[in-house]
Amino acid sequence: MIQFQHISKQYGRDTRALNDVSFDVARGELVFLAGPSGAGKSTILKLIAAIERPTAGSLHVFGQDVGKIKRGAIPFLRRNLGIVFQQPCLLLDRSILANVMLPLTVTGASGAQADKRARAALDKVGLLDRAQAKPLSLSGGEQQRVAIARAIVNRPQIILADEPTANLDRASANLVLDALKIFHAAGVTCLISSHDEQILDRANRLIVLGHGSIMASYSNAATKAGGAAPNASAEPDAAPDDAPSAPAPEAP
Ligand code: ADP
Repeated sequence: MIQFQHISKQYGRDTRALNDVSFDVARGELVFLAGPSGAGKSTILKLIAAIERPTAGSLHVFGQDVGKIKRGAIPFLRRNLGIVFQQPCLLLDRSILANVMLPLTVTGASGAQADKRARAALDKVGLLDRAQAKPLSLSGGEQQRVAIARAIVNRPQIILADEPTANLDRASANLVLDALKIFHAAGVTCLISSHDEQILDRANRLIVLGHGSIMASYSNAATKAGGAAPNASAEPDAAPDDAPSAPAPEAP
């Protein structure tokens, strides 16, 4: 579903954010990107969303060459991506419900349909009872769960979450992660960057970045079947899956 092949990314003259990075993510995987600040995690997520373009190498998302994607095609790519940033970036003068409805109303959904789907998304992240509240009356973790509901409400096939639990206490971070995992369980492919060791300890698939390169890649497929310890490997073992036509997940 996502294929990085020898991707490098240079910002300006001096900053090489990624250096010959190759990995695949198959449909339905939950992949964590780890590494210290400046390692290149955000750059990977930005490349997938065509917010940035690779300097070298090829990057395919849903079988499409995103490195060469035409500007006009980017909105269609992003319609299939739910993006969650470190800061929830909610509209503070609108209700939680209105914030979550927004991606639907801008893509032409009727008010009634947007209302129904936004409420379903809020229900999934455990915040339906706060639908009419304004963002600032919610905790940081709750705001982040609203951002997740907003990211998922268009039923994207992929969620990209950039340090979604940064700045949160342990309990809130776990709730945010649980919210993401609900959508993963419904079939959504998830890439989550984090340097929270407690979260990373529980990862089935982990790509560790350092100075723009993959330092290690752990794939623990056995966990799904029974819980073996992670095995370090140079490359993940999941096969790429480019077919873009799978039905949108039922949740929310
Ligand atoms: P991480 O998400 O792991 O903290 P980033 O992908 O944000 O890492 O950054 C990788 C490197 O690229 C860092 O050295 C960072 O300063 C640099 N960088 C990121 N974005 C830009 C940009 N827009 N312009 C210049 N340098 C950037």
